[in-house]
Amino acid sequence: MNPDYSKIQFMNDDLKYNITLLPKDIQAIIYIITWKGFWKTYVPLTAKPPSWLHYANYVKSELWNASLNNIHFLHLPFNTLPENKKWIMGCQCDSCISDTEVDFMEKHMHSLVQYRNPAYFTNHIAFNESVSSWNKYHVICAGNLLKVFDPLRGSYKENKFTKKLREGYKFEFTYIQ
Ligand SMILES: [Zn+2]
Repeated sequence: MNPDYSKIQFMNDDLKYNITLLPKDIQAIIYIITWKGFWKTYVPLTAKPPSWLHYANYVKSELWNASLNNIHFLHLPFNTLPENKKWIMGCQCDSCISDTEVDFMEKHMHSLVQYRNPAYFTNHIAFNESVSSWNKYHVICAGNLLKVFDPLRGSYKENKFTKKLREGYKFEFTYIQ
C-alpha cells in the first residue's frame, strides 16, 4: 500500500533522503534522467582529438601548399630559419622572390641551362634523394603525374601552357575529326 504522500515531511537540505521518500517508479525516472545528463556531457578520451592533430594538420596543409605554389621543401617555415634561406631556382617563397644576393643574369643562366637540360636541377643544384621526391619535377601518384617542384616556375623559360593554366587564362580546345 502506498504511503500518504501529503503527510511526508521533506527535508530542505537532504536531497538523497527526499528522493527515497518518493515512489519507486519516480526514483527510477530520476535515476535515468540523471545518468542521461551525465553521458550527454561526458566525452571519452578516445573520442577527443589527439594533442598532435592540430600541428599535423598544419604540416599537411603547408606541404600541400608547397606543391601548389611551387615552394621548395627546404624553404618551408619548419625546415629552415628565414635568415638561412638561400635562393633556389623556381621557388616562390617570399625570400626567393625578393632575393638580391644572386645576380639577375646568373638566375637567367640557371633557367636557360635547366631549360636545355631538365636534369640540371636534380643533378647539380638539389640532388635527387631516394627517401623523398621533393626535388623532382613530378611523381607518379595513383597512375597520374603529380607536379612537385618546377625549377623553371616564374622564369622566362617556364612552360607556357602551365603558366597560362595557373594564371587562369581561358583555353579553347579544338577537336580532331
Ligand atoms: Zn624559396
